[in-house]
Amino acid sequence: MARHDLAIRGGTVVNAWGRQVADVLVDGERISGIVDPGSGVPATRVIDADGLMILPGLVDTHCHHRDPGFTHKEDATTATRAAAAGGVTTTFAMPNVSPPPKDAATLASMIEHYREAAVVDWNINAAATDPDQIATLAGMGIAGFKIYMVADTGRDYPHMPGLGVHDHGRLLEIFTLVERTGLPVMVHVHDQSIMDVIEQDYWSRGERDYRAYARAYAEHDGIVWEVALAVVLRIQQSTGARLHVLHMQTAGMVDQIRAAKAQGRDVTSEINPWAVFLGNDWDTVERLGSYALSFWVPPKHEGSLWDGMRDGTIDLVATDHAPHLAAEKEPGWEDGWAAHTGTPSLEFYGPLLLDATRSGRITLEDVVRLTSTRPAEIFGLSRKGRIEAGRDADLVLVDPERSWVISNDHVLSKCGWTPYAGRRVVGGIDATLLRGRMVYEHGEVVGMPGRGRMATPG
Ligand SMILES: [Zn+2]
Repeated sequence: MARHDLAIRGGTVVNAWGRQVADVLVDGERISGIVDPGSGVPATRVIDADGLMILPGLVDTHCHHRDPGFTHKEDATTATRAAAAGGVTTTFAMPNVSPPPKDAATLASMIEHYREAAVVDWNINAAATDPDQIATLAGMGIAGFKIYMVADTGRDYPHMPGLGVHDHGRLLEIFTLVERTGLPVMVHVHDQSIMDVIEQDYWSRGERDYRAYARAYAEHDGIVWEVALAVVLRIQQSTGARLHVLHMQTAGMVDQIRAAKAQGRDVTSEINPWAVFLGNDWDTVERLGSYALSFWVPPKHEGSLWDGMRDGTIDLVATDHAPHLAAEKEPGWEDGWAAHTGTPSLEFYGPLLLDATRSGRITLEDVVRLTSTRPAEIFGLSRKGRIEAGRDADLVLVDPERSWVISNDHVLSKCGWTPYAGRRVVGGIDATLLRGRMVYEHGEVVGMPGRGRMATPG
C-alpha cells in the first residue's frame, strides 16, 4: 500500500449532503481519498480525530480586512490569523479600503501585498465603480465584484470613499458590463433617498442615540433594503448579470429572492451572523448599544431568515466582519450615526452556527453548505467547499461537545473585542488545516504570513 503524507483517522466527515465516520487521506495539498475507518492505510503523519467532526474549511466571501488605509482596525495578516482560528481557510476582502481596488493598478498592488501578508487563502472583491475598468479587473483572478448601493459622500465615513453607486442608470451600465465577465456582482442594497427621509424624521424629533439608529434602519419593515432590492432585481432581469445580494435581514427580502429563484433567475443571497445571533435581540442592543449594531433585525423576521437558510433561498453565511475599534463604537450611546456601523465576528461565526445545530434550527450539513459548499460554488472555487478526493485539504477539526464561553481574550482581530463575549457555546474549533498543513492548533495560529494563496475561480 502506498504511503500517504497524512491520514486523519476516525473523525466524522461532514459534507453538505451527509456525514460518515472515515479516514481522510492527504497527499501534498490535496485530499487523496476518504476511506473506511481502521483501514490502516500507512501515512507519514497521523492525526487522531476520534470523537471529532471534520468540516471543509469555511469560505468567507465577505470580510472587511481594511488593508490598506484603515490598518489601525485590521490588516491582511491580523484578519487572516483570525480567520485561521475561526476555521476560515478562504477569506475575501471587501474593497472599502484606501485606495480602493476599483482600477487595475490598485488591485495589482493589493494582490502583491496579500501574497506576502496572508496566512490563509484569499481573494479581493473589486469595486465595480468604474465601467472602463470592469473587464480588466475581471481578468486579474478576482471571483466577484462589489457594489455599495449608497450615495457617495466622498468621505471615509459613513460610506467608503469613491465606492457608492446609487444612480439607477449607472447600475444598469455596470450590470451590463459585469454580465460579460461571467462573475457575480455582490450588492449592498440600500435606498438612500428613502433613508434620508427616515433620518430627517428621527433627527427632527431629537432622536439620535443608538436606539434611534437601530429603529431608523428597520423602519417600515426594512423599506430601505427592500426598495433597493426590487430595483437591482429588475436590473438583473434585464441584464442577466449574476446578482449576489448581501445582508439579508427581512422577511420581505427573503420573499423577493425566493420569487426570483422560482423564475430561474441567476440570483443568490447572503446572510451575516449579526442578523440571527446579535442584532435580532433588542435586549442585546440595549446592553451593547452600537457595539451590537450592524443593524437591528426585529424578531418578526427571524423565522423567515432561518427558513431561508434551511431551504436555500439564502445561499450562504458570510461574516461581514467589521473590526471597528471600541473608540469608534463608543460615541454611539449618544449619537448612533457617529458610531461606525458593523460588528466583528470572524473567529466566532463558525462556533455560533455549530451551537445553533443543537436547537435544531439548522443541521450540521446545513452549516457546511452555508459556510463552505455554496460560497465555493457561487464564486467558482472548484477546489474548495467539499471533503472529497481532488479538493484542497482545507479541513476544520471540530470538537462538537466542547462547551466554552466566548471572551475578548479569544479575539485575534486587531479590534480586540467581540460583541459575542460572555456567550456560552457548545462546539469548538480544535484545528484548521490549509492545503494539508496546520495553520491553527492547540489554541495557536501556527500558519505564517505568505502561506495563503489567491483562491481564483476555475
Ligand atoms: Zn460588509
